[in-house]
Amino acid sequence: MNPESQSIPSTRTALASGETTAEVLTREALGRIQAHDNSINAFISLCADRALDKARQIDQRIASGESPEAIGPLAGVPVALKDNICTDFGSTTCASKYLEQFESPYSATATQRLEQAGAIILGKANLDEFAMGSTGEFSASAPTRNPWDTSRVPGGSSSGSAAAVSAGFVPVALGSDTGGSVRLPASMCGIVGFKPTYGRISRSGLVAYASSLDQIGTLSRSVADTAAVYQSIAGPDTNDSTCIDMPTGDMLAELEKPLEGLKIAIPDQARSDVIDPATRLVFGMSCKVLADMGAELIDVDLAHAELAIAAYYTIATAEASSNLARYDGVRYGYRAKLEDSDNLEALYTKSRTEALGPEVQRRIMLGTHVLRAGYADELYINAQRVRRLVKSDYDAIFKVIGAHAVATPTALGPAWRIGEKQDDPTDVYQQDIMTVGANLAGLPAISVPAGYVPAGDHTLPVGIQFVGDALSESVLLRVAHQFEQNAGMSGRVAPVTG
Ligand code: GLN
Repeated sequence: MNPESQSIPSTRTALASGETTAEVLTREALGRIQAHDNSINAFISLCADRALDKARQIDQRIASGESPEAIGPLAGVPVALKDNICTDFGSTTCASKYLEQFESPYSATATQRLEQAGAIILGKANLDEFAMGSTGEFSASAPTRNPWDTSRVPGGSSSGSAAAVSAGFVPVALGSDTGGSVRLPASMCGIVGFKPTYGRISRSGLVAYASSLDQIGTLSRSVADTAAVYQSIAGPDTNDSTCIDMPTGDMLAELEKPLEGLKIAIPDQARSDVIDPATRLVFGMSCKVLADMGAELIDVDLAHAELAIAAYYTIATAEASSNLARYDGVRYGYRAKLEDSDNLEALYTKSRTEALGPEVQRRIMLGTHVLRAGYADELYINAQRVRRLVKSDYDAIFKVIGAHAVATPTALGPAWRIGEKQDDPTDVYQQDIMTVGANLAGLPAISVPAGYVPAGDHTLPVGIQFVGDALSESVLLRVAHQFEQNAGMSGRVAPVTG
């Protein structure tokens, strides 16, 4: 099946009619990966034999009379998992030298639910080490390249998941989003990236970065596929006490409802001159599409948006430094070799120094600093205050003004060149300005392809982001789907050119 036309419904139809089999679909996807992934580095590991076995099991069930629908909503759909989502097969490395050999004893709830829904897991996708980064460059495996232009970053930290979907290797992938890691690469790779309300998808088996912000999200080529994957994996889970104990609802039921009567808020920040001019132009055209479809656009102010980056990087690093304390050279993963005279403290230090990459070490140091006695009040506690203010800005927009979504560009511009910002971490942190608010406030958010901006002799994709009120996934996905249908920018497979 041609990757451009492979969607979840088209897979189901083709399996039901006998036009193809899950095994053929799996072989085709593996073939594309083998042919092109050496120039992209989307995958850290593949589980080809296991995937083919699973596919044959599905084919046997279909051959014995079961419909693909009865097998599950994702029957036969090849997927990639970000390599910080645990699988009880293969390795779960988090793209870190520290966990290079780590084999998880259990699978994440999201992994299990994907397989229960009939999806075929092909392998583990590349990422910035421990999901810390915005470019995919901080992988101990290899930097992932953007399928639209391999001299550029794909965005991160779900770099491999986004590149795998964008290049047409798989129609669907899972990522994780702590401050924008699903939406930013989706924008830069020309695909749809969705992070639900905090707690909608179980974090059990997602390797923790910053637990109060982490959320598993989806990457795919359409909002409809996004909705189908989301509702297959979301919902209560006794293994994660922060998982919301409420049914997810039917996300596909409302998608086709028009936008008339819906209010879309446009914050001042969406028109800020820190955004690249061509990206601003695309955003302006997207607003026109929304207005032409009958949505009411309202100007609003996210008064604390400017402070959100500082608050995010304070809270995220504080939580990261505490979550990463478990990598001590004793319990998991890498262990440094010691001389006779060395002590336990030296084992910790050496193991962490040798096996954690530069960005992860920077985050641990930042996090330890913001939590230090004498500094925590000024830094960490203030960041929590800002977090509450960011949340109250959104509350005013959703609950007082009655908006259904807040729209902004997802990123400040298209993908930049590999290495371009490597010496300037704070500039890279600033690039998350549009996305971190949704994580701080725990809100659902989605990036949808909005247009293409010129870059030399070719063009690069940029996305529009919609943020919704807590638990309003259904209306958020409807807004995104309606926009997608009218803007017509989704669904393209990148040319994978150098
Ligand atoms: N770029 C952000 C960071 O490095 C977001 C990462 C993420 O969402 N996992 O923290």
